[in-house]
Amino acid sequence: MIIAVLALQGAFAEHEKMIRSLGADCIELRQAEDLKKHYDGLILPGGESTVQGKLLRELGMFDTIKKQIEDGLPVLATCAGMILLASVIDGQIDGQPDSYFGTLPVRVRRNAYGRQLSSFHAKADVAGIGAVPMTFIRAPYVVEMDKDALASGNGQILAVVNNRIVGVRYKNQFAFAFHPELDPDTRIHQAFLNCVKARTPD
Ligand code: GLN
Repeated sequence: MIIAVLALQGAFAEHEKMIRSLGADCIELRQAEDLKKHYDGLILPGGESTVQGKLLRELGMFDTIKKQIEDGLPVLATCAGMILLASVIDGQIDGQPDSYFGTLPVRVRRNAYGRQLSSFHAKADVAGIGAVPMTFIRAPYVVEMDKDALASGNGQILAVVNNRIVGVRYKNQFAFAFHPELDPDTRIHQAFLNCVKARTPD
């Protein structure tokens, strides 16, 4: 099983370390050529979503990755990665709207906790996993998930902190507002690997 980690900017090395510690292989996606390699799942790390989106466009990687996600490639997206997936970005938009994948039917708010609370820790339940430590860094949150997505069962709210949605799933896309790769708890990555494994033929 091979997991590709988008390695243009941000906290990608921490994801790779965690994935390897769980016994799966990792490759880095740094240029369009890398997208020809075989991989069974994708991680979109935290960082700065406007920068990542711009680089994805400039490096000619955007359309291929978007198509892979639409075709069902399992994705674990954290923080900026969640913003890249979102179909609607609320509040400040200083990137090109066409540099977001828009494959996850949620409205997200960027840098949503205000200056004082820009970084904080919490411990809260993630559906199907239990209480996990959560590190938020200039994090977004999900304002709402599309009602049809929820009603169809394809969409699911996975975690809520202080009445704000911080974890969602839509089909094979898992998105979290916090950084599970920065805490020692590996269960979110393990759950993602289980999902990848379930759809990967032996
Ligand atoms: N604030 C960042 C953004 O808008 C996300 C922060 C993060 O990934 N830690 O892209």
